[in-house]
Amino acid sequence: MISSDRIPRVGPHCGSGHSYSAMNSADLDSHTIAAISTPPGAGGIGIIRVSGTNARHILTRIFKPARQDCDFSSHRLYYGSIINPADAKMLDEVLVVFMQAPQTYTREDVVEIHCHGSFLVLQSVLELVLSEGAQLAEAGEFTKRAFLNGRIDLTRAEAVIDVLSARTRKGVDIALDQMSGTLYRKVDEMRTTLVEIRALLETAIDFPEEEIEIADHEVLLSRITQEVHTPLRKLIDQADDGRIVREGVSIVIVGRPNVGKSSLLNTLLQEERALVTAIPGTTRDTIEEYLDIHGIPVRIIDTAGIREDVEEVEELGIKRAKESINRADLVLFLMDGSQPVCEDDRELFETIAHKPFITVINKCDLDRQLTPGSGSVLLDEAVSVSALKQEGMTDLKQRIFARLTGGREQWQEEGCAPNLRHKTALENGAAALERVCDGLESGLTNDLITIDLLECFDHLGAIVGETTTEDVLDVIFEQFCLGK
Ligand code: GDP
Repeated sequence: MISSDRIPRVGPHCGSGHSYSAMNSADLDSHTIAAISTPPGAGGIGIIRVSGTNARHILTRIFKPARQDCDFSSHRLYYGSIINPADAKMLDEVLVVFMQAPQTYTREDVVEIHCHGSFLVLQSVLELVLSEGAQLAEAGEFTKRAFLNGRIDLTRAEAVIDVLSARTRKGVDIALDQMSGTLYRKVDEMRTTLVEIRALLETAIDFPEEEIEIADHEVLLSRITQEVHTPLRKLIDQADDGRIVREGVSIVIVGRPNVGKSSLLNTLLQEERALVTAIPGTTRDTIEEYLDIHGIPVRIIDTAGIREDVEEVEELGIKRAKESINRADLVLFLMDGSQPVCEDDRELFETIAHKPFITVINKCDLDRQLTPGSGSVLLDEAVSVSALKQEGMTDLKQRIFARLTGGREQWQEEGCAPNLRHKTALENGAAALERVCDGLESGLTNDLITIDLLECFDHLGAIVGETTTEDVLDVIFEQFCLGK
């Protein structure tokens, strides 16, 4: 029989703490950590965050309050100066706050020092904090502590990264939803059902005479299907939404010279340019242009220059166009609607026909030579636009959205969008669950069914961080920037 301590108690996560099986509290470094938590560069203010048992002591050593009655009451802002105790030199005029554990981001004592937003000032105050005994925090270490101290589960910790790196408002909304615990709760509900079913199966093992009443396989099967299998499959489906909103997609606009590629790109950018902020600590080779198509960050692959050198069009130009096409998730095949289809159009079409594509007939403000679906395969399900007059853009964006989401007109209900890590765990969980269902159907013994049930439980546990290995945690928290 399987020992009962393999399944921890499942309950509301926040506030109750969680058992993290791959690591215990001794693994959690108890040293006090510090980092600059605001982005590098000049700004109105810059914040240094300190977390750990020594945080308050360090603050009392280096902060000179303006008022005599400062007693560092928790969660109150104090005005004063940072003074180096070694030479009494003032480093900055600041506001500071001491936040006593456990009502803090990390559940440890936390201090924030709000300095002027100059990198030199911040650096010198940070160095002083470090010289007083704090250690420089690793990337994501504050959030990792919040997780290890049981304030947030792993899905909520991952949502913090998603908020910081979201490229569209939809991305932020998805991340905030996850941060509020929606995904955690769904997984938790499924795990609760598994715990209950396992208890029934084990009780039936202990009381074989009453086995049928206690654990009727048909009843259990229907419960598992409704309460675990169906919601689990739904989450797997929703993971694809999460992927495109988090990672974005790339689109290339292809067409022969003068059909209006640059005009179309400019019109789209004018209407839907996504805000892209540089994430500190990352580098980019090129500045990329992103569109926000109903919340999907869409990177436009630049084919500009393909036609610059006429001599090279045949070789280099076509080669580069092909490379762009291969890298793209979707091709917009642009044609000039004021001219009949020509041989160049057909040749280009050959190069994109293997990819997901949308034919776009441009210049619909001029006399039309081409109309959607008019005889040629090139024009099947085409969209008519005028890049110049900015007409047809709503239709085009709707069509792009549909192509990227497998034919959908709008997003599914708001909410969960599991990431790739979650999806893998959900799929593994689903596979184990299907074995449970087969076992129940075919009358397998309860102890054998329980083995697969436990496996499913563990896979779901990995999503929320109950059964996640240290390597996986390292990979997750490495994605954070310093100071978060
Ligand atoms: P590209 O070579 O494919 O990038 O084409 P451009 O965007 O440079 O456009 C070529 C020419 O077509 C320019 O003179 C544009 O002003 C014109 N053009 C682009 N789109 C439209 C349109 O929708 N209607 C009309 N009438 N002219 C357009």
